Amino acid sequence: MNCPCHILEDRTVTMRTPFIAGNWKMFMTRSEATDLVEGLLTALANVRDVEVAVCPPFSALDCVSRLLAGHKIALGAQNCYWEDKGAFTGEVSPAMLKEIGCEYCIVGHSERRQLFGETNETVRKRILALYKHDILPIVCIGETLTEREKGKTEKVVLTQMRECLQNLPPDRMAVTTIAYEPVWAIGTGKTATPEQAQEVHKLIRAELVKIFGRDIAGKVRIQYGGSVKPDNVKTLMAQDDIDGALVGGASLKVDSFSAIVKFGE
Ligand code: PEP
Repeated sequence: MNCPCHILEDRTVTMRTPFIAGNWKMFMTRSEATDLVEGLLTALANVRDVEVAVCPPFSALDCVSRLLAGHKIALGAQNCYWEDKGAFTGEVSPAMLKEIGCEYCIVGHSERRQLFGETNETVRKRILALYKHDILPIVCIGETLTEREKGKTEKVVLTQMRECLQNLPPDRMAVTTIAYEPVWAIGTGKTATPEQAQEVHKLIRAELVKIFGRDIAGKVRIQYGGSVKPDNVKTLMAQDDIDGALVGGASLKVDSFSAIVKFGE
């Protein structure tokens, strides 16, 4: 099935082009964000064959959007609500994100699941709302350390997938990104080994085949996230089913984020 999403067509990005996204979390004032983006635009001016996105906090989206206009780095948000508008104090809708210029939005990050009560069901609602506004979701899944130690990684990851992705339109799924982020590796400096990550990415791909068929499953990009750094990105990206990275801490500095984006050089 052809992808109806104009975003990827406009950006002439082919399927499974490596995709590196920076999750700035609750860091970067507007002036800090300006410095970071200006540095990235210079450092990444000649990068080819890698798609790059930055996901600033809501307060900096507008200013980063202006700086990125006409450049190849895409803009993403870190969360959204699922209604278009209404009495939802403190929330931001996909329609608002679209107007600012967001092409991507992270949903279901483990920090939102653990600290703000995000569930698989609300992740799914957010995904559908984003589809409605042609914003591409980056859907985060991953097990905690206790779950891994109890041998529950497979069960947890597959349950998250089945519940978050239930009955999604296959053509939209093809342009949705899944970020496998073992919770024990986020912000801890402990990266999953390339083999550990590939084992789960392979499982995710196999489940995508079961749910959406081989064609769609072959198009979905699966990012790895969890202490990705310039010195481990290359071996992670060498794995068959790792198509990119969702980068937290190392996305806050021009040198480390640009070195990660340039993993192939
Ligand atoms: C993240 O926030 O998604 C993340 C992977 O963080 P870090 O790279 O700092 O582990």
